[in-house]
Amino acid sequence: MSNQKERIHLSLPHMSGRESKYIDQAFETNWIAPLGPNVDAFEQELAEYVEAQGAAAVSSGTAAIHLALRLLGVKKGDTIFCSSLTFVASANPILYEGATPVFIDSEPETWNMSPQALEKALIDAKRENSLPKAIVVVNLYGQSAKMDEIVSLCQKFDVPIIEDAAESLGSTYKGKKSGTFGKFGIYSFNGNKIITTSGGGMLVSNDVEALDKARFLATQARDPAPHYQHSQIGFNYRMSNLLAGVGRGQLEVLDDRVRARRAVFERYEKALSSIEGIQFMPELEGTVSNRWLTALTIDQDKLKVTPTDILGALENENIEARPVWKPLHLQPLFDSAKYYSHDDGKSVSDDLFMNGLCLPSGSNMTAEQQVRVIETILKVIKKVIKKDECNC
Ligand SMILES: *Cc1c(COP(=O)(O)O)cnc(C)c1O
Repeated sequence: MSNQKERIHLSLPHMSGRESKYIDQAFETNWIAPLGPNVDAFEQELAEYVEAQGAAAVSSGTAAIHLALRLLGVKKGDTIFCSSLTFVASANPILYEGATPVFIDSEPETWNMSPQALEKALIDAKRENSLPKAIVVVNLYGQSAKMDEIVSLCQKFDVPIIEDAAESLGSTYKGKKSGTFGKFGIYSFNGNKIITTSGGGMLVSNDVEALDKARFLATQARDPAPHYQHSQIGFNYRMSNLLAGVGRGQLEVLDDRVRARRAVFERYEKALSSIEGIQFMPELEGTVSNRWLTALTIDQDKLKVTPTDILGALENENIEARPVWKPLHLQPLFDSAKYYSHDDGKSVSDDLFMNGLCLPSGSNMTAEQQVRVIETILKVIKKVIKKDECNC
């Protein structure tokens, strides 16, 4: 199956050219690692961008979630509520701490945590005297969850929120930046995210003392003493000064990247949304999604194709696309975890997984590349429609 066609990737790094200035500065001053002026400036600049009181730069988004759980005092046996439809990194840190995840379904308007399911879970937990130590709310593919409803429920039950905004940096909810709705917010600068440091993450909060504690924990929890003294478990989670330089150059163009991803989405939508049986991930009124990935669902009965058929056809054309995240409550890793669905007997996240797919969405994608993706999808669908007509 050789294929000469140039590969189209799901989401590639997109450098601005401004990164090298900060990296050169680091080289000139031999401030390669760890920490240093780029780290301090990147933290400050990101905090300013999202309008949070502070930020702590770390080695990954996963590390940021882990630190947030630590800072909230999560211990073995505690319960943590978490969105089910997400990447495993949202929940792995719960297991690092020996805590127990309870997964919450999505609702159809944002594909994110269902306030209805969350309320059920909170009421049950309260009755059983096992309220969660925290909830991890994810903003999938850039779309904010229904934060008003979720924040108000969490206030009512006095449960702190960790907002997993790994995919939603640059998005807004009612004018407020995604990632700033909880006690802690986290971002990821992994290679495929909207901006990247090749690998990295950020913890944000309005509690600057907690962020100082995060920096302490992230540098092996070294006590203030002339010798190396430690009285608690620490981690090696800080971001290097070089990578923070990349981050500074990326942050300068974040708004451009959001515009570009939204333009990619709009082209797909224009070409495909009139097809009955294709439905794009909605954008909740009052929110702006960064459209990190263009996601859609297909009606398999209407179109007589499966997401696997489309993914296969795209792969044959050397185009990388992906299924929607497999919900965590369906993962073997979380076999025994409790799960609350949006409606009794109807799991929204299961449906989204069964029928969904993500299209290549990089901000550096060309219009020609998008045409290739669109034509491939149209071909699969039309081909099947023709076959169907022959059957009549
Ligand atoms: C990417 C991602 C993470 C993890 O970020 P890393 O920087 O790769 O550790 C966490 N949650 C979600 C939803 C993600 O997409």
